[in-house]
Amino acid sequence: MRCSFCKNKSVYYRRNEGNYYCKNHFIKNIEKKVKRTISQNKLIKNGDRIAIAFSGGKDSSTLLIILNKIFKNNPNIELFAITIDQGIKLRSNEMLKKTKKLCKQLNIDHYIFSFKDEFGITVDDLKRKMKTGFCGSCGILRRYILNKKARELKATKLATGHNLDDETQTIIMNMIRGDLLRLARVGPMPILSRHKKFVPRIKPLIEIPEEESKLYAKLNKISSTQKKCPYSYDDPLRGNTIKFLNNLEKTSPGIKNSLLQSAYKIKPFIKDKFKQEKIRTCEICGEPSSQKKCRVCELLYSSTFMA
Ligand SMILES: [Zn+2]
Ligand SMILES: [Zn+2]
Repeated sequence: MRCSFCKNKSVYYRRNEGNYYCKNHFIKNIEKKVKRTISQNKLIKNGDRIAIAFSGGKDSSTLLIILNKIFKNNPNIELFAITIDQGIKLRSNEMLKKTKKLCKQLNIDHYIFSFKDEFGITVDDLKRKMKTGFCGSCGILRRYILNKKARELKATKLATGHNLDDETQTIIMNMIRGDLLRLARVGPMPILSRHKKFVPRIKPLIEIPEEESKLYAKLNKISSTQKKCPYSYDDPLRGNTIKFLNNLEKTSPGIKNSLLQSAYKIKPFIKDKFKQEKIRTCEICGEPSSQKKCRVCELLYSSTFMA
């Protein structure tokens, strides 16, 4: 098939539009969409110093490349990347190599922090010591370091590679679980509870479907060898939600986007009904927390772990 815009060979067909895209037009179109998300939602403004959470996966690579393209010649916006080495033997080295290479290529400052240096423990250690309730812990630890380091490096925003699929899965799962407060946090700049130690998060890829984010990375020659965490288990609720949304998208193209728009419309009403979660300061480490002890201190100093 030929590109609907220039008659070159097409690489992608966007079903909800009925348009074919060649490589050039596809790349331009994705960048235009991200720019629009950023400007419509005022995600980034002059004077911002943006920390990009960069794992080396496809979404965060796409994010890094696009933000660099949009802002590299703008003297009023600074970008840098943060990579967290979780200490998973099977994949840390490869990941670090990949992330360093891309940052060097794009000439972006790159900071690497590790679970080992921050917590004195790797994910491999954690897995060995904890019997149950492990999976998900690395996400808690990772978000904690990302926020802390972004703040220490004077970032004004923390950008993550969440795409349309991630966001719509979260919407459905929160509804199914009855977790409406979280539904109030949907969107490209979720309102976190106010705490002076929180760096605001932004999701510039929120309107980009996963397959398009993947293709963008591939067309930019990002190798697609990111392995799944060896300790992850398949959450059946998430698995079924993915299938459900993908099936709907197949028969009714554009459904993920309209679900996101619906969530935006519901959001103000939910925000009114639910008071902001009270936020405190962890009595052990001084980071923001909803309880006396934050989840990281809870995890690292819990009896199951120390035993
Ligand atoms: Zn074209
Ligand atoms: Zn703490």
